[in-house]
Amino acid sequence: MKTAIIVGAGMGGLATAARLAKAGYEVFVFEARNQIGGRIGELRRNGYRFDTGPTLLMMLEPLERLFSDLHRRVEDYLELVLIDPSYRVYFGDGTVFDSSPNIARMVREIARKISPREVPGYLKLMADLSAMYHAVVPAFVRKQYDSLADLFSPYQVGLLLRHRLLANLWKRVGRYVRDPRLRMLFSFQTMYLGLSPKEALWVYGVLTYMESGEGVWYPRGGMHKVPHAVAQIAQEEGARIYLNQRVAEVLVENGQAVGVRLASGEVLRADVVVINVDAPTAYRELLPPTRYARRNFKNSCSALMFYIGYTEPLPHQLHHNVYFSRDFEQNLYELFVQNRVPSDPSFYTCLSNRTDPQDAPAGCENLYVLVPVPNLTGEDARAAAPRVLETVIARVGLKRERIQFVETLTPHEWQALGLWQGAAFGIAHNFFQSTAFRPSVRTPFRNCYLVGASTQPGNGIPMTLISAELVAERVLGRRSRKA
Ligand SMILES: Cc1cc2nc3c(=O)[nH]c(=O)nc-3n(C[C@H](O)[C@H](O)[C@H](O)COP(=O)(O)OP(=O)(O)OC[C@H]3O[C@@H](n4cnc5c(N)ncnc54)[C@H](O)[C@@H]3O)c2cc1C
Repeated sequence: MKTAIIVGAGMGGLATAARLAKAGYEVFVFEARNQIGGRIGELRRNGYRFDTGPTLLMMLEPLERLFSDLHRRVEDYLELVLIDPSYRVYFGDGTVFDSSPNIARMVREIARKISPREVPGYLKLMADLSAMYHAVVPAFVRKQYDSLADLFSPYQVGLLLRHRLLANLWKRVGRYVRDPRLRMLFSFQTMYLGLSPKEALWVYGVLTYMESGEGVWYPRGGMHKVPHAVAQIAQEEGARIYLNQRVAEVLVENGQAVGVRLASGEVLRADVVVINVDAPTAYRELLPPTRYARRNFKNSCSALMFYIGYTEPLPHQLHHNVYFSRDFEQNLYELFVQNRVPSDPSFYTCLSNRTDPQDAPAGCENLYVLVPVPNLTGEDARAAAPRVLETVIARVGLKRERIQFVETLTPHEWQALGLWQGAAFGIAHNFFQSTAFRPSVRTPFRNCYLVGASTQPGNGIPMTLISAELVAERVLGRRSRKA
């Protein structure tokens, strides 16, 4: 029986573990912390429960594919709930808008709150994004890249031209919808990747489609149920998961990975090593020196988090809520160009107790707040946290005496998870760090692979699941599904 060591029990590591265990490998997962899931974390305090990282489950297909490849049914492990309206949007001018994947609802909301004249543009935008999404995912996302030639086949070049994939997202969305509020609404999703919508390529409109077209889902019990379900399957297939076991080094002999050395000094040998640690950190700290360790990757922005126990209902909030800065373009400029904590930041809030009432004591709210801020190369978000919290308190309309506690998480804590420069969303998704240019799941060392958000295809739970598919295909010697 061949053995595989997986370094890190984030989403990508666990999905790879399950796939390799199912294929007959003896699998050992070593996780540095005392819990699995990586960024998909959980916090419990005073009867409140918070998801600490992801809150939006989108693009279910890779999750469903994982389960079906493992001969399991999603519904036997997870209860997925469609959240509709997806979220409530608070625009800077006072407009309150409920976004929905239900087209009829959305048409009504746009006509009522914005203008009936914008409805045809919205419908055309969704139709074009849907067509692009269904073409792009098999051709560019679920794709093994061995060389640049794999990026420029005649079919892919045809798609590139037909959908104008390299056009600017912000400008192009503005041609479908004229109202600045709708332009924000249909392009801000790139911030989930830590990417400014003003700098993003049109192809990243697939995120808008995932959300506005397919909808936002939630696993009852919390987001961490997803990695726990995958870990359970991996263990049912024989994988062993060890917590509090930091890997200090991947051992390489004659250009081939042969095992790992744990921080305790113990050496373990394996036929295959898969690293789920953020790719720049893996190249810098775990692997022998290569040109990748010196590559100056551009990082995504980071996230300043507040987890607030609140002792009064906030009836105006839904499960998900987005607060746009009063001057969104200035917000983007300060964050992405000046690398500063915005003076009037946009932010996102989540109350999972809307769907899981037991997540907060009766009559209370578990208020999760995510504010995009610079990574550790920019202004110190830790120092700015009190000021940002004041903005959140004012805009959400919180009463100070009702705040039972505030737990804060800054880019420093994201860095402690192995994320280079504290970039919560991994390396950026600019053109030269996407598709074939993004770190491959293969490393320069034989039998050594990378999986996770800073590898191909990219950030987000669905992408890390696809990353695990790509790794398993490589390890098991199956060719990619060709475009
Ligand atoms: C605030 C926030 C909100 C987000 N929201 C969403 C969302 O709503 N929807 C969505 O789809 N995505 C979201 N994401 C992105 C999503 O969380 C990530 O893309 C995904 O979870 C990354 O998984 P990964 O496989 O890269 O592993 P990671 O989560 O990066 O896990 C890596 C694991 O490796 C471990 N490790 C590190 N070093 C070592 C070592 N030396 N030895 C052993 N173990 C080690 C770490 O402890 C960690 O457990 C969000 C991310 C953040 C930060």
